[in-house]
Amino acid sequence: MAFHRFKALETVLTRTPVDVVLPSNKVSEFFGENVFGIDAMREYLSEEAFKSVMSAMEQGTQIDRKMADHVASSMKAWANSKGATHYTHWFQPLTGTTAEKHDAFFEPTEGGRAIERFGGSQLAQQEPDASSFPNGGIRNTFEARGYTAWDPTSPAFVIGKTLCIPTIFVSYTGEALDFKTPLLKALHAMDKAAVDVCQYFDKNVTKVIATLGWEQEYFLVDEALANARPDLSITGRTLFGHIPAKGQQLEDHYFGSIPDRATAFMRDFEIESLKLGIPIKTRHNEVAPNQFECAPVFEECNLAVDHNQLLMDVMEKVGRRHNFKVLLHEKPFAGVNGSGKHNNWSLSTNTGKNLLSPGKTPKTNLQFLTFFINTVKAVHDNADLLRAGIASANNDHRLGANEAPPAIMSVFLGTQLSNVLDELETKVKSGKMSPDEKTALKLGVGKIPDILLDNTDRNRTSPFAFTGNKFEFRAVGSSANCAGPMTILNAIVADQLVKFKKDVDALISKNVDKDEAIFQVLRTYIIESKKIRFEGNGYGEEWVKEAAKRGLSNIKTTPEALGAFASKQTMSLFERHGIMSEREQHARYDIYLETYTKKIQIESRVMADLALNQIIPTAIKYQSSLIENVKGLKEIMSPADFKKNGQIQLEMIMEISEHINIIKTKVDQMTEARKKANAIADVKKQAVEYCEKVKSYFDVIRYHVDKLEIVVDDESWPLPKYRELLFTK
Ligand code: ADP
Ligand code: MG
Repeated sequence: MAFHRFKALETVLTRTPVDVVLPSNKVSEFFGENVFGIDAMREYLSEEAFKSVMSAMEQGTQIDRKMADHVASSMKAWANSKGATHYTHWFQPLTGTTAEKHDAFFEPTEGGRAIERFGGSQLAQQEPDASSFPNGGIRNTFEARGYTAWDPTSPAFVIGKTLCIPTIFVSYTGEALDFKTPLLKALHAMDKAAVDVCQYFDKNVTKVIATLGWEQEYFLVDEALANARPDLSITGRTLFGHIPAKGQQLEDHYFGSIPDRATAFMRDFEIESLKLGIPIKTRHNEVAPNQFECAPVFEECNLAVDHNQLLMDVMEKVGRRHNFKVLLHEKPFAGVNGSGKHNNWSLSTNTGKNLLSPGKTPKTNLQFLTFFINTVKAVHDNADLLRAGIASANNDHRLGANEAPPAIMSVFLGTQLSNVLDELETKVKSGKMSPDEKTALKLGVGKIPDILLDNTDRNRTSPFAFTGNKFEFRAVGSSANCAGPMTILNAIVADQLVKFKKDVDALISKNVDKDEAIFQVLRTYIIESKKIRFEGNGYGEEWVKEAAKRGLSNIKTTPEALGAFASKQTMSLFERHGIMSEREQHARYDIYLETYTKKIQIESRVMADLALNQIIPTAIKYQSSLIENVKGLKEIMSPADFKKNGQIQLEMIMEISEHINIIKTKVDQMTEARKKANAIADVKKQAVEYCEKVKSYFDVIRYHVDKLEIVVDDESWPLPKYRELLFTK
């Protein structure tokens, strides 16, 4: 017999919160202690090496081999002091998770002895087999090597007994095979484009970094219960399960008290995260039962991405200590809110200014408006690409499902800023403005900060919302690598800023005054990007209609959404900024499609197995007991009595037969559909086939299984039920 849910439930009853000891009451005493960060580098590196690494981090300069040797030996000494015996290059292949290839620090020598070895070349480069990772055909069969190369902008850290060195991952021929490489290039393009635009306002700006503050949502489920659900263990979500009598309708979970076991888990993974330098700060319950969120203080984008990937690893590892399975899947439970990962994004200068924060003077506010409006314009012009960047089989369950941002891309600005843009649109003249008009305009712009202070309107239904001093990209999936959407967002805004500078310079060269030129170009952008602005309820049916009228895309499925990656516009955008070549983009496009197909394929298989091996046999057993019961009733009742009181049992038998019949028929048809889809060679066609011809069986099979769940005797139902998964403390 399968791992029955009662055994699992009994196990859960014996659970107690795990004791977690805070290393110190002062977080500052252990924050970053497992990171080879600035303090550790100061202690372990020579003055010269320290400067060289800092310059690589801040200016992106190269570290030469001799220096790398020195850094490597210092890093190793530090890691040894933390108990590390192994090192690994830590990278982010397109599987979506992180990868590690551990090597011991020592190397065996002749005569059975060993020498400790970890030099500049081991630090700078490793050669994992690229063929074990998705490569979209980039790997030539005769040359399977891939390279990982040290990314000095993200500090090394120790987990357990291993020194982890953040790296990029590229093919033998230099093409990106990971998330980090294009991200770093997009951030570089952003830096350059933004600095150029800042020169209009402030000559002291020489560096602009993108900042990212993510908010991670997740569910906690007891490990024993999760293990009794093959669907949850294998696919990360429940493929069956009747909605519980009490779900989230009372909305009593949000900001409610956190159960002790969950609190202990949170404290534990927060401590681990803080030691790794992840500035985790907030935690709270989410809307759904057993759903939680955590968020750090924002950081430089590349570092924030690494920290989110690291956090997801840490959560899963620490979860095991607390007998929890951490569900990062976007939609583990039907009928219950899914999980997202809001990406709060802004731009910050070397002069300490947040470019998306309104300033104190008309000049700084014009700078703010410039970055603000260019972002809106970039989203308008590249809405489909942004949509592609958050597309995944998992996220399809969220987007547009009336609880998460819709699949329609739009931007929420808030009433005040909408008014400011409307005013600019009417007041800026395309011809020459009089000095009075210009003064009035600048005065108007100068008033922005006062207004924003009481800007309390928040729109939780918008996929991309301005929230006072940053944009919040709310449609990102909870299990996604933020690098995907962040590469796109930074690339499209960088591209837009380059266009902006060109447009403004063109006017200046025609003797238009600089401020006026900026105003005029911004006005054009305001007009051109109007249709992307939406302040209303993004979950409503009216918005779907209104968006269609405006000509905005509403792309519901991943295979269709991914199409934007293969468009001419995208190809040329990434190529123009040196972020990815066409070859790299095509490879990526194929990988994403293949990943989609594989996910649906696995779900479909697990669904069929569960239905045939667990659900139908359970239903048949229960039905047999009903049949026995009817036989008995017939024996002891008169035909008239049986006709009066024995019919319900007969109906139940029939009902069960009907469900079993449909389940079996549909599972067989689905399996046939899968066979057909598997024979398709073209990756795009195959993904579409899986989406339209295989996935389409999921709902109907699930419907009948869930019906059986409420008919069949609770004693014999094998899978932990929603109420047990979601409400067991
Ligand atoms: P809330 O949205 O819950 O009111 P906050 O406004 O403090 O909370 O921010 C939410 C998230 O936005 C946090 O992760 C925070 O670090 C991040 N954030 C705040 N300012 C910025 C910024 N300038 N750039 C990027 N992220 C930011
Ligand atoms: Mg938020």
